[in-house]
Amino acid sequence: MNPAVPRFLPSDLAPAEYVIIGGGAVGCGAAYALAKAGHTDVLVIEKQSELCDVTSSQGAGLCGQVRSSAERTRLAMVSAKLFADLQAAGGPATPNWHAVGSLRLANTDERVAEFARLKAVCDEVGLQVELIDIARAKQLWPKLTFEGIRAVLWCPSDGYMDPRSVVRTYAHYSRELGVRFITDTAVEGIELRGGRVAAVRTSRGMVECQNVINAAGSHAYHVAKLVGLELPIVPVRHEYFVSVPMAGLNPELPVVRIPDIGLYVRADGQGLLVGGWEEQALSKNPTEFGLTDEPPLTADEAVLSDFARRLEPLIPGVCGVASSRVAKGWPTFTPDGRFIVGRSSRVPGFIMAAGCNAHGISGSPGLGQHLIEALFSDNPSPYVRSLSPDRFNEMKWDWPTVRQAAEKIYREYYGIGC
Ligand SMILES: Cc1cc2nc3c(=O)[nH]c(=O)nc-3n(C[C@H](O)[C@H](O)[C@H](O)COP(=O)(O)OP(=O)(O)OC[C@H]3O[C@@H](n4cnc5c(N)ncnc54)[C@H](O)[C@@H]3O)c2cc1C
Repeated sequence: MNPAVPRFLPSDLAPAEYVIIGGGAVGCGAAYALAKAGHTDVLVIEKQSELCDVTSSQGAGLCGQVRSSAERTRLAMVSAKLFADLQAAGGPATPNWHAVGSLRLANTDERVAEFARLKAVCDEVGLQVELIDIARAKQLWPKLTFEGIRAVLWCPSDGYMDPRSVVRTYAHYSRELGVRFITDTAVEGIELRGGRVAAVRTSRGMVECQNVINAAGSHAYHVAKLVGLELPIVPVRHEYFVSVPMAGLNPELPVVRIPDIGLYVRADGQGLLVGGWEEQALSKNPTEFGLTDEPPLTADEAVLSDFARRLEPLIPGVCGVASSRVAKGWPTFTPDGRFIVGRSSRVPGFIMAAGCNAHGISGSPGLGQHLIEALFSDNPSPYVRSLSPDRFNEMKWDWPTVRQAAEKIYREYYGIGC
């Protein structure tokens, strides 16, 4: 009998210039961005036995480019382009990108007016969108009644990906460039020498490093705390259901967003994926659970039934359809709704890549781009500077207030102008 192949080798813990804590979409996207920028002495440490096993695996995979500002639209275009390019490359790993387009539906006059503004932003940055009539929209999504819909904004280059495939693709290309990944290994401490990051202590031993990138998702607060930083990173529950197969669905149907009723919908195979933004958002205070605890999470049937009820006029019968799957997790929000990306000036060598405000998968290419700019540009843009963890250094804040702000951003995710 062959001796068992050791899963871990001492070389797994060899020193690295960058240690990334967390192997979700953000950590793996950061590794990919670093490697592409020529920084390949990178080790990603993930405590689960697989990459992408926590929040990222739960994502609906939506990647929408229509945003309320030119800056955010351009960034979302970076994401859609990367997913499309990686898909077109057809390598051994692809993000499973479905360039199905998206329909955004308006139920109110205010929303119709917002669509005109959104279109103007898209025109400014060269993103093709079109206001289409109901007859055309019905051709694109025959199962939808379009009852009460006053305007439809069509973005043909939008789409959806498979989050696990995205992470696998980042990992594949990063490995090819020399990035190392270890799983089943938890970071338990960060050692500072002379005030700067010098090593991480893991469940398997020490790793010497010059920089740590905190991409620990719902534990990003706790990892920052390991170096004495207190950052307002608030987990807020999010969930969706997928129905059993329904007639008239196929995976090539466009993604649908209905902001006035706070819902997103897409086909998931022959099933219907329905997610949304709750009026009573449920946040967690991260100081109430530890680095090694998982915040408890159960599917909230009342919330999911409410999503179906809101959708019923547009897809009659959806209320009575059984679910085949429920996805749920604790994506993190920040009180100003922005990512936290870049170096901490308080702890040299400590870098943040967290606080994704529920678009960490679709946002991971843009976040990677921000990270590279924040780390290596002599003159980062004002927007990238505004993402720095330092913005919370001087600000006075408390948990009740930042939780309220995070819940508001969650609730108003599809708000006019958001
Ligand atoms: C139901 C649902 C639907 C969503 N839909 C979308 C969508 O359509 N599009 C979109 O862009 N986003 C979506 N999101 C949000 C998206 O999932 C998150 O923004 C994204 O997954 C955050 O990625 P992450 O890498 O920061 O976190 P995670 O995927 O949670 O990764 C963090 C990793 O860090 C690891 N870790 C933590 N602590 C340690 C430690 N001490 N040592 C080692 N490893 C550690 C964890 O195990 C975890 O794997 C959705 C979220 C949910 C819950």
